[in-house]
Amino acid sequence: TPPRGTIRDWLNERENDYRPAFVFPETGEILTWAALRSHSKQVAGDLTAQGIAKGESVIVMHPNGLEGIRALFAVLYGGFRVTMLNLAAGPDALAYAMKHSKARLAFVHDDQITTFDKVRPDTLELYRPSDETVPLHDITTDDDALLMYTSGTTGRPKGVVHSQSSLLAGGWTVSVSHELTPQDRGMGVLPFYHINGLCVSVMGALVSGGSLAIVSRFSASKFWDQAAEGGITWFSVVPTIISHLLHGKAEPHPSHKPQLRFARSASSALAVETQRAFQDRFGLAIVESLGMTETAAQCLVNPLNPELHKIGSAGQGISNEARIADDNGTECRRGVEGEIQVRGPNVMQRYLDDPETTAAAFHGDWLRTGDLGRMDKDGYVFVTGRLKELIIKGGENIAPREIDEALYEHPDVVEAAAFARPCDSYGERVEAAVRLSEASTANDAELLLLCIERVGKFKAPDVVHILPELPKGPSGKIQRLYLNEMIYGGN
Ligand code: ATP
Ligand code: MG
Repeated sequence: TPPRGTIRDWLNERENDYRPAFVFPETGEILTWAALRSHSKQVAGDLTAQGIAKGESVIVMHPNGLEGIRALFAVLYGGFRVTMLNLAAGPDALAYAMKHSKARLAFVHDDQITTFDKVRPDTLELYRPSDETVPLHDITTDDDALLMYTSGTTGRPKGVVHSQSSLLAGGWTVSVSHELTPQDRGMGVLPFYHINGLCVSVMGALVSGGSLAIVSRFSASKFWDQAAEGGITWFSVVPTIISHLLHGKAEPHPSHKPQLRFARSASSALAVETQRAFQDRFGLAIVESLGMTETAAQCLVNPLNPELHKIGSAGQGISNEARIADDNGTECRRGVEGEIQVRGPNVMQRYLDDPETTAAAFHGDWLRTGDLGRMDKDGYVFVTGRLKELIIKGGENIAPREIDEALYEHPDVVEAAAFARPCDSYGERVEAAVRLSEASTANDAELLLLCIERVGKFKAPDVVHILPELPKGPSGKIQRLYLNEMIYGGN
């Protein structure tokens, strides 16, 4: 059963728990559950005294680190709506989120103060401690707890609202499916202003009673050192990180390796070849999962037991339900492609101040993910792509992922994305962009041949662009829909 109580209740239970909750290998700092609880209580009292209402947005503008974690939990403890701002989102998106959230107070890291001052509305100020404390707000599990913006891969980021209970449920789904115990320690390398970092790593630690080693940012050369220093037992990352580790020189420390139970990948599709090559090279299984901001991260996941993994599948609904449905919300037969829909305790309440978009996102209580896929007879979902990213060539739907997968079979391909190029004869035609590993001498002709071999002439791209970098959104996802404009300047 999903977790009961509020995040305040969860922290109160750890009042005398002096085990490390969060450790910081880069600085040597350690934050225990007891210290986190007492700090949260004090700052929450302060925010309450300063007149912040229950469920009101309070901004946290911090990179991963001790201060950011403390601010996050203080806001949650007080029953406010923690509003995590994406530091990579750029000034316009930051200004939009600040205004849209209607927050009046913000916790801001020193390095972000200049940006904050430049973009903040007059009504938003920095948090300053005061001595006054008043009784905390009474809160319930249905109160707003989180406002987080989606990655903006298919349009303007949407402000997703989670309650105390759906946020906790996000940590719970992870904890259950990965069988996390208090002995487990994850790695907080993904930013906490992205749902994968917040719900999988931070909430996973809270709900499992385990802990988290936090690093400020990913570095392929330092990753395995930090993993060993932090004493982690598993880690949650994204496919681009998997790919960078695979193409990097560094290796897990032999003395630490036996402690590593598994790696986890979500946020975008993990190419089959990349997964195989990573598992072969490092002898470490990757659990693939599909997560969304709207579902407090995980909504599909592979079972923990590697023998039950299905490579190429984002997994099953474990602790939430999943189905494939057509446009009318009717469930499809197994094996038939349709939209992936999910429901369960981890599904969001709403998009903030946007009842129309919220209504459009649901068929009854089923959340429409906007992703396409098929479910096999065992309930595993194979994601074929996003509805909005389909390439329609001469009336035929082509899932760009199929072409990406073919390109990733080339050992030098680090990143790949096929995209639609408007064209007179077909309406749209297929092109692709890749980033190659540093010393690669591969050329576009051999990449084209590989695609033709795998997907046939009709679906194969007409051009493969070799680029130094693929365009990424603020959470590091490849922005497929932006490639045409980036390469052709909107023509
Ligand atoms: P926006 O909603 O603003 O366009 P976004 O959907 O990328 O951006 P997120 O909530 O961060 O924002 O990401 C959720 C999406 O990420 C999913 O709907 C899905 O398209 C994609 N995704 C996550 N995990 C996987 C996976 N394992 N395989 C394929 N796609 C995935
Ligand atoms: Mg989305």
